[in-house]
Amino acid sequence: MTEHKPVTEASAVKVPTLPDAQTVTEVQHYTDRLFRFRCTRPASLRFRSGEFVMIGLMGDPDPKTGKQKPLLRAYSIASPAWDDELEFYSIKVQDGPLTSKLQHIEAGDQLILRPKPVGTLVHDALLPGKRLWFFATGTGIAPFASLIREPQTYEDYDQIILTHTCRDVAELTYGRDLVESVRNDEMLAELMGEGFADKLVYYPTTTREESPKMGRVTELLKDGTVFRDLGIDGITPETDRAMVCGSMGLNTDMKAILEGYGLREGSNSEPAEYVVEKAFVG
Ligand SMILES: Cc1cc2nc3c(=O)[nH]c(=O)nc-3n(C[C@H](O)[C@H](O)[C@H](O)COP(=O)(O)OP(=O)(O)OC[C@H]3O[C@@H](n4cnc5c(N)ncnc54)[C@H](O)[C@@H]3O)c2cc1C
Repeated sequence: MTEHKPVTEASAVKVPTLPDAQTVTEVQHYTDRLFRFRCTRPASLRFRSGEFVMIGLMGDPDPKTGKQKPLLRAYSIASPAWDDELEFYSIKVQDGPLTSKLQHIEAGDQLILRPKPVGTLVHDALLPGKRLWFFATGTGIAPFASLIREPQTYEDYDQIILTHTCRDVAELTYGRDLVESVRNDEMLAELMGEGFADKLVYYPTTTREESPKMGRVTELLKDGTVFRDLGIDGITPETDRAMVCGSMGLNTDMKAILEGYGLREGSNSEPAEYVVEKAFVG
């Protein structure tokens, strides 16, 4: 008769083997280019909503030495600072060194997370204001996914406007679901009071596929469409603050537009009226 060893709780739990290992708890795919995943959070990790960390996987063994090195990339933390877990929203680059592999992760797998959060898309880098704009393209919505779940955002501002521009409608799904979940979030409602969600305005646009609002947000700002649609007079340094996260093109154009309205770029050491961060390099 074969003797079966009882499966104890300890042996059932995967022991982390990677440096700075965290365990994936959930994965959701949206398109062949986009997915989100959640993982455990290191007990020691403190971060400000909007910051990014380095995450990754072990690279392939070196053909000569057989040694493996961590393959790390910058990722905005998409979950808010109070969350027990961490969430990330990711691109899938088919020949990308990291994401060609990362797109295949499943719940229970491990990834590497260096617990050193940094970044400028944080409340501390902005001077007090009345209205906060989040301008995102593609995965650039990730830091704002964190910030729209952050109670301080609603404490500090009367109105929060999230604009998200993608090529296709399906690429808006993550943001749309997120805004919906924030509007129905009982914990935030309890903390902030009923009606807090009325402060959050969502302005999705597409550049390629037909949708109710088409065009780059930069063009829609320049020709005044955004302001007409939202019933807002315009952007001024007295009332408006902005955070920008997108492609190099969006960031450069948005900087010029915001400077044109009289807003100045801020940083952690010198807060001002707007801040910018790259959603990716390249
Ligand atoms: C501050 C910062 C924060 C970032 N946060 C995120 C994030 O939250 N989610 C995320 O998916 N990526 C994010 N990135 C990009 C990320 O670091 C990697 O570039 C990405 O994961 C692809 O890695 P890779 O090794 O597969 O390909 P890489 O060799 O890194 O990139 C290959 C090429 O793919 C394109 N590319 C890379 N990332 C993106 C992207 N996000 N969207 C569109 N095209 C891209 C670029 O043209 C790049 O040259 C961030 C980058 C920076 C600098």
